[in-house]
Amino acid sequence: MHKFRCHGCGKELAKGSLKYIVEVKSFADFDGYLEEYEGDVEEGISELVEAMESMDAKAMEDDVAREIVFILCKPCRDRFTNDPLQTGRPVLAGEDAKGTVH
Ligand SMILES: [Zn+2]
Repeated sequence: MHKFRCHGCGKELAKGSLKYIVEVKSFADFDGYLEEYEGDVEEGISELVEAMESMDAKAMEDDVAREIVFILCKPCRDRFTNDPLQTGRPVLAGEDAKGTVH
């Protein structure tokens, strides 16, 4: 039978033991501000669309959104959620950090 191991510390997570799925989703935020475009906006958009068409689909997807999934034991989950970027600073609570929320 397939055994799960904590992605953080490598500890074996026995069947029925407490484990956590941590999904990390990152996606391009939009704060409602567009950089001023020199010239015709319509033209700018068609240039952008052209640039997107010539880009590798996977690379473009990675630019916009990326999702990672970890299976963690409780100590690793706590460690991760308390300071995911290891900055030593407290984590901004969910929605507050997003530019789209007013
Ligand atoms: Zn762990």
